[in-house]
Amino acid sequence: MRPDILQTPLEFLKGVGTQKAAALKSALELTNWGELLEYYPYRYFDRTQIRPIVDLNMGDDYVQSGGVLTALYEEGDGRKKRIRGLLVSGISRLEMTWFGNMSFLLDKLVKGERYIVFGKVSFFGGIPQMANPEIEPMVTAPTAATNIGGLQPLYSVSERLNRMGINNRSFGKITRALFDKLPPEAVPETLPAGVVREFQLLPRYQALRAIHFPETEAERDAAIARLKFEELLASQLAVAKVRKANRSRTGFVFPRVAEKFNTFYKEYLPFELTGAQKRVVKELRDDVISGHQMNRLVQGDVGSGKTMVAILAMLLALDNGFQACMMAPTEILATQHYEGIKALLEPMHIPVALLTGRIKGKDRRDTLKALEAGMLPVLIGTHALIEDKVKFQNLGLAVIDEQHRFGVAQRSRLWAKNHLPPHVLIMTATPIPRTLAMSLYGDLEVSVIDELPPGRKPIQTVHRSDAHRVKVMEFIRSEIDKGRQAYVVYPLIEESEKLDFESLSEGYEQVKTFFPDHKYHIAMVHGRQPADEKERNMQRFVSGEAQILVSTTVIEVGVNVPNASVMLIESAERFGLSQLHQLRGRVGRGADQSFCVLLTGQQISAESRTRMNVMVESTDGFYIAEKDMELRGPGDIYGTRQSGALKFKLANLVEDAELVAICRNVAAAIVEADPTLSLPENQPLHRLLIQQKQQTAWSDIS
Ligand code: ADP
Ligand code: MG
Repeated sequence: MRPDILQTPLEFLKGVGTQKAAALKSALELTNWGELLEYYPYRYFDRTQIRPIVDLNMGDDYVQSGGVLTALYEEGDGRKKRIRGLLVSGISRLEMTWFGNMSFLLDKLVKGERYIVFGKVSFFGGIPQMANPEIEPMVTAPTAATNIGGLQPLYSVSERLNRMGINNRSFGKITRALFDKLPPEAVPETLPAGVVREFQLLPRYQALRAIHFPETEAERDAAIARLKFEELLASQLAVAKVRKANRSRTGFVFPRVAEKFNTFYKEYLPFELTGAQKRVVKELRDDVISGHQMNRLVQGDVGSGKTMVAILAMLLALDNGFQACMMAPTEILATQHYEGIKALLEPMHIPVALLTGRIKGKDRRDTLKALEAGMLPVLIGTHALIEDKVKFQNLGLAVIDEQHRFGVAQRSRLWAKNHLPPHVLIMTATPIPRTLAMSLYGDLEVSVIDELPPGRKPIQTVHRSDAHRVKVMEFIRSEIDKGRQAYVVYPLIEESEKLDFESLSEGYEQVKTFFPDHKYHIAMVHGRQPADEKERNMQRFVSGEAQILVSTTVIEVGVNVPNASVMLIESAERFGLSQLHQLRGRVGRGADQSFCVLLTGQQISAESRTRMNVMVESTDGFYIAEKDMELRGPGDIYGTRQSGALKFKLANLVEDAELVAICRNVAAAIVEADPTLSLPENQPLHRLLIQQKQQTAWSDIS
């Protein structure tokens, strides 16, 4: 076996050469045989079907058609030179144009003969057109001709490659040349024999061959299934290994449920816990007496009461002589948590302090000193908490709110804060569909708070176009006159902070015309404000002094103003579903009926309309997350964008949910029996992991 044969540069393939190799590198980042092997077709075309010209339609992608060649000539000169041809069938015509250096066609093709063409169809003046079609003489039995018949792979070959003489067909030829050179043993198996047998998978070499050159649809499907299996198994193995390590890591034991927890529970809890909250508290209780470090994710829709669960967990830590901390992603949120938690714990004489980047000087020094001396049991803050200078006497629990903004690297810095890693409780309001959670958070135990506190009325959501703005404003006015408050949110234009600010300022002025100064107070918050100004404005809204908060999406995470009953989202079509759901969750936090208004332009895309409809019809975060994943694909789900772990060449976490679950079980069983993958039968998996590592950076995921 010579595994390095796959590293051979592409130029050493028949039909490639230096120039084409350079083109393949710059256009598709393909440099060697192994990479070419894994550059899969994106679809296939059944070349046995020939569509009459008269049946060609607008919007057809690749089709095969045929007719008599009635005209063929060269046009233009120099770089603009092109060949034109006309194919006629009955009274229908198909115009063809070949660009680039294609003069040889003038000799090869014969007017009056019948041809088959294959290409992408467009229409010009009602007449179908093909640019750079493949063309072959029509023979009575199509399969007799070498290049026609069976499934033809379609590769995404860019326009640029096309101009450099590599079209879909020559790309196929190159791939064929590769297989001519490649003995089966040059492509080692990456799956254990037992797995291949159990799931009746094609061997790797055969699968690769068949994905490029399938004889039948069944063979193609088997090839794709095998290669998807390998992608998903690799990602689930990586997850299973981390999970196994997590589960066996020694952790602190919190055996006591004692005074602080019990007193709080009996005397200070402002409400009865929901069933879901109780269940989650029970789950994390089991974790902290197990002797292993807890790594638990609590998923709960906005407003489901995650904070209270976190507070109870912190009290457990305190009862067992440990300190606890909570990290929030923003200054505003950390402050709000601090104030809320302090108000709850102060009556019990439990000191709570806040630590953010803005707390400096003596306050900071005092806090750090008390923390190290063990005089400060509870610390709330931003990621300022993980700095090395922040030393705890005995940290036992770290709560991370809105987890997606903290990466694994940051999490592990927390671990170093005590001689054993503290328990970690992560809370997220981003509902993640199950299959995605398996891939993304597979290393964590997951608890779900799937119940809202009682008495909440579902938020009423409507979608209105700009034309109804006056009515919408009148509605907001009626709510405010009832003593309520309202949010008006503008999208953040990432590319242009300036434009963003201008549209916000314009919006502010516009809101002001409906809500004049002498009667209403409007606060404005945006990313360009200095932190203290932002804070001040936010505070005006939180305190109720300002009835309206005009802002960009900075309010998205966590802010709690129960009196606010209207969320108006401007240019709602520019937000993703998860983000709309997060924003909407800012209202409906009190007992009153709340409303969400999605304002969009009159003309919006079908996809935007679907998004608006999903929001109008549902307030269920999990349903919305599923829809979001369907519409955008898992790679774009809010907060997961940067994670390479979700990039698969073939697999799709939505469509292949069943396969994900299978691979998860297979991976768990393998890792359970052989944690280091050192048994002889698991040797192929090392190749699999090394191979997929280039694509999957597991450590990037939070
Ligand atoms: P989130 O899960 O979005 O972080 P919070 O913890 O901020 O939600 O809770 C939202 C609101 O619901 C808060 O005002 C909180 O006091 C209240 N709340 C939480 N649990 C309950 C409960 N069991 N009964 C009534 N209100 C609750
Ligand atoms: Mg929260």
